[in-house]
Amino acid sequence: MEYVDLHLHTTASDGVRSPSNLVNYAKEKELRAIAITDHDTIEGLDEAMTEGSKIGFEVIPGIEISAEYSPGSMHLLGYFLDIHHPLLNERLAYLQKARAERNPKIVEKLNRLGIKVTYEDVIKASGGGQVGRPHFAQVLLERGYVRSMQEAFERFLKKGAPAYHDKFRFKPEEAIHFIQGANGIAVIGHPNTLGANGMSELNALLSQLVKQGLKGIEVYYPEHSPSEVATYKLLAEKYGLVMTGGTDYHGIDGNDLDIGVGRGDMKLPYSIVEALKAARHQ
Ligand SMILES: [Zn+2]
Ligand SMILES: [Zn+2]
Repeated sequence: MEYVDLHLHTTASDGVRSPSNLVNYAKEKELRAIAITDHDTIEGLDEAMTEGSKIGFEVIPGIEISAEYSPGSMHLLGYFLDIHHPLLNERLAYLQKARAERNPKIVEKLNRLGIKVTYEDVIKASGGGQVGRPHFAQVLLERGYVRSMQEAFERFLKKGAPAYHDKFRFKPEEAIHFIQGANGIAVIGHPNTLGANGMSELNALLSQLVKQGLKGIEVYYPEHSPSEVATYKLLAEKYGLVMTGGTDYHGIDGNDLDIGVGRGDMKLPYSIVEALKAARHQ
């Protein structure tokens, strides 16, 4: 049996490994294929795919888009993207611009709270990649304003905290539209973060997303309980969705989570990739 991992992050978003390093790591771990799904960006894909063809390893170009949804969060995964597609690139450039406008707002709010950080500090903490709230937390920790990353989120950065500033998100149908526009296939990621209240809400949501072009659901995910997995399997069957899976590996040491296997028991067969490829041509 040959295994895959379809949910991975690199330094192009908030992962630790560079795209080419991650591809080599996946090959070392004897996986058959991986998908790189960085948050709101395809920046790492060119490098990853070039490395993949160099070493003879299948890399599926993907993305993870944060969509507008409440009460929880909705992450839409896109697979087999044409990374040169103009609509995809235009929409992602728009997102990056919105993000760039958001971060200085967070700096302003922190400054007003008497915390002396500059945007340059945060950019430096990001190591040249995408700037996100974890980088703000890192700076607060380094400067001694908090004792842990978690405290930084709790006291300052989480939703509702005094330095929080909401980011722009596309509506789910918009994200599905530009994923499909770039010949990609849209999959709903880790549905357990949606905060959906019971089966009736999940049914209502999925039937709507399927009408908008959703083709798959991430059934296998380290944070899903066995009963959640069972529920998402039922829903996948009901709506004719491909059952996908991935570890959401970020390359962070010490959290017991590894590529391909998650917390040790994940085994995602290559047939998932074949099912996605088939769904792409439907
Ligand atoms: Zn996610
Ligand atoms: Zn992720």
